[in-house]
Amino acid sequence: MNRCSKAIIYKDNLRYNLENIKKYVNKDTKVCVAVKADGYGTSGLLTAQISEELGFDYVAVACVDEGIELRNAGVKINILLLSLCTPEEFEDLINFNITPLVFTEEYIQALAETAKNIGLDYKFPVFLGIDTGMGRVGCYPDEAAKQAKLITDSGVLKLEGMITHFCVSDSLEEKNQQFTKEQYKKFCDAVDDVKAEGINPGICTCGASAGMLNNTDMYCDMVRPGIIAYGYYPDEVSEQYIKSKNKGFDIKPVMALVTKVVAIRHFPKGKTISYGRTYTCQEDTDIAVLPIGYADGLLRRYSPGLEVTINGKKYPVCGRICMDQCMVNIGKNNPDVKLWDEVIIFGPKESGALCTAEDLAKIGHTISYEVMTSLSKRIKREIR
Ligand SMILES: *Cc1c(COP(=O)(O)O)cnc(C)c1O
Repeated sequence: MNRCSKAIIYKDNLRYNLENIKKYVNKDTKVCVAVKADGYGTSGLLTAQISEELGFDYVAVACVDEGIELRNAGVKINILLLSLCTPEEFEDLINFNITPLVFTEEYIQALAETAKNIGLDYKFPVFLGIDTGMGRVGCYPDEAAKQAKLITDSGVLKLEGMITHFCVSDSLEEKNQQFTKEQYKKFCDAVDDVKAEGINPGICTCGASAGMLNNTDMYCDMVRPGIIAYGYYPDEVSEQYIKSKNKGFDIKPVMALVTKVVAIRHFPKGKTISYGRTYTCQEDTDIAVLPIGYADGLLRRYSPGLEVTINGKKYPVCGRICMDQCMVNIGKNNPDVKLWDEVIIFGPKESGALCTAEDLAKIGHTISYEVMTSLSKRIKREIR
């Protein structure tokens, strides 16, 4: 653990975002909050606990152990497993009551086998995944009825719901919104095929954050927000765009990444800084050393470009970010920066940050999702 560098999780902001999600969707729409990857690097447990308190219907994880961790901490809300696991984990799925997404004959049969061996006195619920364009998990839409039949015919499994995932709903381009419409239509057709087979499709769900915010006519029974719970908008479905549509919605970043100045060095004009000598001091200057680097999740590709906040002002990171440290040009004899002052790398306004995870994402040619989930286990999470 790195003691001066930590992530602060603003509990009130997380609750605010979740409450606003609840207000945004109509009362009949169920909500499944994605808490995978430890709540996008924040706290999966806290997110699940607040989701449960607010009466949401599901939280979603990516692996069985994430689900087990929540159950062991006393979480009662339904847990949906969005990724696939292997048969060795099926027993845990059942014992910890984690609802899997299924879509192939082998998977359904192997799961049914495990359920039979355990000898349940109820039918184990599963979601049938439909691939309408994402090219990841799910059967083709025209196989839905057959797969649904396999599930119910097993005698031990129950079709609890049907799920698909939009792949370009975070883009506002006409051709992409058209593709989303086509995905929705394919999904609805698959649901109809299942119904025609005399099988109840259960809870049907398509949209993640972007779909929830922008494709409000494609909710089916449940939406699955993730990134907006943690305070960031999905790509082009931005704050400005949602405001321009006059849709009342607001969120606040949940996480701040902070560290401290651990040394102030005095360098002459012409001195170079860090590996590769990519940065040369243009004049005599002072350089603050920060004990945070790419092994903490401060990715190497944030420099050049990254600016950190110290006492309300921004200063540039200079030279390459190292594994465990980086250097910041604070200017000569700067009275505003002292040894051991707090440095804020990104965060909500409350943290004093002048940058958000989205700003870092732009510099690093990535998305806020990756900025947050990249923080390593060396960064302690402090809930505040
Ligand atoms: C991660 C994920 C979500 C949440 O996505 P966001 O873009 O963060 O809202 C929803 N559904 C599935 C299947 C996912 O994998």
